[in-house]
Amino acid sequence: MLYWDYAAAAPPYEEVVQTLEQVMRKHFANPSSLHRAGEEADKLIKRAREVCAAALDVLPQEIIFTSGATESNNLAVKGAALQYQSRGRHIVTTELEHPSVYESCLQLQKLGWEVTFVAPDPQGVVEPSRIAAAVRPDTVLVSVMHVNNEIGTVQPLREIGQLVKAVNRRTLFHVDGVQGYGKLEASLKDWQADLYSLSAHKLRGPRGTGILYVREGVTLFPLLTGGSQEQGKRAGTENVPNIVASAKAMRMSGEQREAFSARIRPLKAQLENYIAGIPELVLNSMEDGAPHIVHFSYPGMKGEVLARRLEELGMAVATRSACSSRLAEPSRILLSMGRDTAAALGGIRISLGDSHTQQDVSRLEQALLAAVQSLKIAEGGMK
Ligand code: PLP
Repeated sequence: MLYWDYAAAAPPYEEVVQTLEQVMRKHFANPSSLHRAGEEADKLIKRAREVCAAALDVLPQEIIFTSGATESNNLAVKGAALQYQSRGRHIVTTELEHPSVYESCLQLQKLGWEVTFVAPDPQGVVEPSRIAAAVRPDTVLVSVMHVNNEIGTVQPLREIGQLVKAVNRRTLFHVDGVQGYGKLEASLKDWQADLYSLSAHKLRGPRGTGILYVREGVTLFPLLTGGSQEQGKRAGTENVPNIVASAKAMRMSGEQREAFSARIRPLKAQLENYIAGIPELVLNSMEDGAPHIVHFSYPGMKGEVLARRLEELGMAVATRSACSSRLAEPSRILLSMGRDTAAALGGIRISLGDSHTQQDVSRLEQALLAAVQSLKIAEGGMK
């Protein structure tokens, strides 16, 4: 079986697995404990924080460890909204966001906040001036993702950050960086980002650890209360092995970013060209999108049906992002781009990773053609 679902979960680096095991065996003490073993565990977290900060060119005290990007995004959006409600109760975000941002905003809406959801253009890119036009004196937060997890489009964060700050200097800018880190440059300062979320398992780290950059001077209303871990922003005993292994993955994927993109982008282009040549399919991802995500629709055919047929042919693909793939509804992302329901129900996401070769892509192309042809014949027979 060839695995084409790196955007849902990437296999951990061998070094990550080894680090997890070593730290779990050796440094099981609670980092808050005052004895030597506790101090050693605490030192490991400190070092991991420095590694993550260096990878993002920020300060160690600006890094918070969480349980995943879902928590990082919830903390960024709700933590900022609750903390700064005296400044205003308005949030601007996009219709493209991952559910962990989107649903956080809907929850705040139910609690009385006003949320402006900005629609993307038909290519899945948000026009910066539309974001800026939505910012008001009472806008406390703007949240825009770097790379869309379903179709791989890249948002113009530099322009967005610049415009947002020009309209309202006090508005905080949050970026969900989960699908961008290790694939494209993450320029937090250039974007003027105040908050930035990451997930370790998307960059070949362990499952269950997230990273949240919180610019110095920004306070968040904590969602988890208890102990004073993570500078009081996130209570709970730290997951030391995961944190250390996540820092390792972050460093490695950051260092390998350029080589990874240079090798994978031509494979993506090859696959996209091939898909564009199959008349039944409509390509949704773009050439200048993230280097690892290819997305297309088979309008009129359910994505699940095509995914199952591809699995029978030895290819593990996704119908959309992993967290939504069990929903029978049309893709919210494709609908927001103006695609019709038939196209929004028939989406397939292929995400590439380090292991893939040109030969693998050719095998996938053959399987894709065979799957489409067999489904077309089956459909014709049913008419
Ligand atoms: N944001 C984006 C863009 C994602 O793709 C994902 C996961 O698919 C998340 C947030 C949530 O990350 P996690 O699985 O660490 O909760």
